Amino acid sequence: LRITCTPISRRDKSMAGTIAVLQDVTEQEKMERSRREFVANVSHELRTPLTTIKSYIEALDDGALEDRDLAGRFVGVIRGESERMIRLVTDLLHLSRLDSNQAPLRRKAVHVREMLEEVSDRFSFQMRQKSIGSSVLIENGIENIWIDRDQIDQVLDNLMSNAIKYTMDGGHIEIAARKPDAGSIAISVKDNGIGIPSKDLARIFERFYRVDKARSRNAGGTGLGLSIAREIIKAHGGTVELESEWNEGTTVTFTLPTLHEGSQGS
Ligand code: ADP
Repeated sequence: LRITCTPISRRDKSMAGTIAVLQDVTEQEKMERSRREFVANVSHELRTPLTTIKSYIEALDDGALEDRDLAGRFVGVIRGESERMIRLVTDLLHLSRLDSNQAPLRRKAVHVREMLEEVSDRFSFQMRQKSIGSSVLIENGIENIWIDRDQIDQVLDNLMSNAIKYTMDGGHIEIAARKPDAGSIAISVKDNGIGIPSKDLARIFERFYRVDKARSRNAGGTGLGLSIAREIIKAHGGTVELESEWNEGTTVTFTLPTLHEGSQGS
């Protein structure tokens, strides 16, 4: 608790009283702590690829340049690490725009089936590479929804790329849309992949939280995908939840209010 006292004096300088302000700072301290953690995480995430890039450049400089095969491999590593940094910075910028409400929603009427089939098509190459099967299920009566298509596509892309990253070869991914009540649509991406241990579930939407850092890094993850998805859904006035069973699979479900043209939304 923070107490601030301000004395109030009359014109003749005699004391009239004191204003005391009592402020609950627990929330503020929590925010300050998470801000510090965030900065530490960003620094670490950027430092790792930078250190790798520097050491490979030094190795090239120390003679590896003369060996064409080796040089080619080293350049490949440098390119990969630079791409990781670009992905990370792009995700960070996106999050910061969402945090400061600088990503206004451009809602349009979007046909749900069309949108979900297109997501599945976008990932068909990656799924084929891992022999992952897929299905798209749409409950009867679901047609248009009033959303920012680009942003919801980003959510779907993040969920799909996770489902593919964390599912073994030969697995299955199901994209589905249901209508839990008259006012909303629930969209889910379900995989039968490695799942998430229950002890990690509570923190999974936190920025940079990953069950297995090495696995996520190797798969090209930034640890920000779910946080970005959550912010976008929040901006649409919806909710998102994740259910998972270790070694069984994961389902992420988000709801969107079925607004229509002309309604306020958020
Ligand atoms: P990342 O870029 O590391 O995938 P995300 O924010 O998208 O970051 O996800 C956070 C973590 O949640 C991942 O590192 C992974 O451990 C876990 N995770 C997310 N989706 C799935 C999934 N479909 N199956 C298993 N684990 C998942």
